[in-house]
Amino acid sequence: MSDKEKFEDTDLWEETGDKEEHQEEGFEDICYICRRPESKAGKMIQIPNSVSICFDCMQKTFDTMNHTGFPIGDMGNFGNMPNISMINLSDLQNMNMMPKSQKLKKKKPKEDKKPKPVLDIKSIPAPHKIKASLDEYVVGQEHAKKVMSVAVYNHYKRVRCNDQDGIEIEKSNMLMLGPTGSGKTYMVKTLARLLDVPLAIADATSLTEAGYIGDDIESVVSKLLAAADNDVERAEHGIIFIDEIDKIAKKKTTNQRDVSGESVQQGMLKLLEGAQIEVPVGANSKNAMVPLATVDTRNILFICGGAFPDLEDVIKERLNKKSAMGFHADLKDKYDGEENLLQRVEVEDIRKYGMIPEFLGRLPVIFALDALTEDMLVRILTEPKSAIVKQYQKLLSMDEVKLEFETNALHAIAKKAKKKDVGARALRAIIEEFMLDIMYEIPKDDNIGMVTITEDYIENRGGPVISMRG
Ligand code: ADP
Repeated sequence: MSDKEKFEDTDLWEETGDKEEHQEEGFEDICYICRRPESKAGKMIQIPNSVSICFDCMQKTFDTMNHTGFPIGDMGNFGNMPNISMINLSDLQNMNMMPKSQKLKKKKPKEDKKPKPVLDIKSIPAPHKIKASLDEYVVGQEHAKKVMSVAVYNHYKRVRCNDQDGIEIEKSNMLMLGPTGSGKTYMVKTLARLLDVPLAIADATSLTEAGYIGDDIESVVSKLLAAADNDVERAEHGIIFIDEIDKIAKKKTTNQRDVSGESVQQGMLKLLEGAQIEVPVGANSKNAMVPLATVDTRNILFICGGAFPDLEDVIKERLNKKSAMGFHADLKDKYDGEENLLQRVEVEDIRKYGMIPEFLGRLPVIFALDALTEDMLVRILTEPKSAIVKQYQKLLSMDEVKLEFETNALHAIAKKAKKKDVGARALRAIIEEFMLDIMYEIPKDDNIGMVTITEDYIENRGGPVISMRG
């Protein structure tokens, strides 16, 4: 048998339809050469080791071989053929390097085996219902919860409606201001979980203009696709949270190209508004080995968050300027002691801070979170559904031990946390330090029935009160 006959006779070639084991339910194949998925490139030819090649690429390969008068049996030698990245088919048979997860999820609703989400976006829960669900987890921040609930409600209504009557509802992307540890990320995470939509959290500090060292702006969409298990349709209804957005403010004194500041804002414009973005599947950079999927960002809800340090000064300056005029002029330091000055923010202030107007124009919902007070910190310790205190009580109840915290002890913890100036984030570290000994000692003695944490114990002046059973 000649080489040519051997090649044509080989049982490598089989069409997709014949080989059902190649097709996992709901996934589509990707051409090994051009990286297009089956939905774009059409039927694939399957060869062993889960390699698929589309008809176009196969045809191109044969055409090139015919034009160059190439001996078809000599598959190993393509050195003198320009622009062809030919694969040696005989090598593929015993090749183990094929990525196994390079399959794209087909656009098809999958049957729901998971428990029903608390809020169903298909029936678009009313704002008060969204807020009521948020209330169970997030302490205080009443204004922020209200604004967010309405914005989310409008967003999903917009996604559902058609614009045949010519009225197009504007996207309700949000900009959230708040000191560190005030619960920005936590609120967005809670919201996404309640609505059961995929969520991608990205850090604006790592983003740079395409082509520079750092993550491309489009990588945030790729993260969302990964969070949606490569299901493009689910990703298109997801939420992208971009934290530390104040770090991409325009640099004030620079004559170099601002690749991680203003350019990133510019680059994000089309993403925020809605664009078809080609994103790599299963990786965060585009290269020849990674398949691409097209994600439409029109219905993705973008939430940007940032602490905006020193923004208070800008607000203060504006307020002072206003009140320093006329007969009713106020004292210059009137606003110095005000804690929640961020609540008085206006678009103008953020623009002064260094965000470009086009960027702000695409984030129409702007609101600020309150700085956490001592009382709020105490409530965070005890009230939310999975509050830290409740978690410890559950852990100890498994040893049939009751755990109590005196009110003063809770306040002492909150005071310590407030001093650290990192919001609620300090709470866990502080409480963990005190609970270590208790979690270690209590299981030793079966007679212990109850532990009460006192203020003295937190202040290192004494120990917890331990009561025996019976
Ligand atoms: P940041 O504003 O810096 O994004 P985070 O959202 O990361 O802050 O908050 C840190 C932690 O503090 C969260 O994981 C959450 O447990 C807790 N936390 C903050 N604010 C609240 C709140 N209002 N209610 C309940 N927990 C909160």
